Amino acid sequence: MTSPMPPLRLVTIDGPAGAGKTTVSRLLAQHLGYRYVDTGALYRGVALAAMAEGIAPDDDAGLDRLCQRIRLELTPTERGLRLMLDGVDVTDELRGREVTRMASAVSARQPVRRFLLNLQRALGKNRGAVFEGRDMGTVVFPDAEVKFFLDAAVEERARRRHAELAESDRPPLATVVAEIQRRDRNDSSRQLAPLKPAPDAMRIDATDLTPREVVARMLAHIDRLP
Ligand code: C5P
Repeated sequence: MTSPMPPLRLVTIDGPAGAGKTTVSRLLAQHLGYRYVDTGALYRGVALAAMAEGIAPDDDAGLDRLCQRIRLELTPTERGLRLMLDGVDVTDELRGREVTRMASAVSARQPVRRFLLNLQRALGKNRGAVFEGRDMGTVVFPDAEVKFFLDAAVEERARRRHAELAESDRPPLATVVAEIQRRDRNDSSRQLAPLKPAPDAMRIDATDLTPREVVARMLAHIDRLP
């Protein structure tokens, strides 16, 4: 007798910058045959649009108008997940340090969080997806069936981010450590949807684990679910 198909679930992966969420989420989604949604890319998309229009990160009225006007879409392609801003592929512009700083700043603002909360919930209507971010298991999908919180030592996270940065945009490692610490502080101390593990999340410390090892633990956890 063949075993019944497992139910389609919503999987959330939260954690600080550089913990390996993106690689792990992509791999896990592949294994499960699920969609993968990188919600950080949405915050980066808003940041990019705000920068292009000269909107200051604390200008809530300006950000609100911007959010009502722009269209953000995450499109899976052979080259991975691409972010479309008003129909234009802006994926290659999202990872620089300036956009990263701006994303961290605008993500603390209410109009931006409200806009993306609605967008993310709409994307999660159909189960069978892995959502990666900071508040997936706590705020956006408190009812998700599977929640993970992925962390790693700050030095290791900074080392990974440093290696990812384009050479032209790569400061000394100590600067990246300081930037990650600042972002950790911003993300964890903000009033709206701060970064913290959901009480029902499985916590994984990835400091000494490869992405494949992390995914193996996640799959073992999912296999044990009723
Ligand atoms: O994950 P990533 O580094 O691409 O996220 C960029 C920024 O977007 C983070 O520093 C964080 O401030 C914000 N973010 C958020 N909530 C999410 C995803 C990202 O506040 N769900």
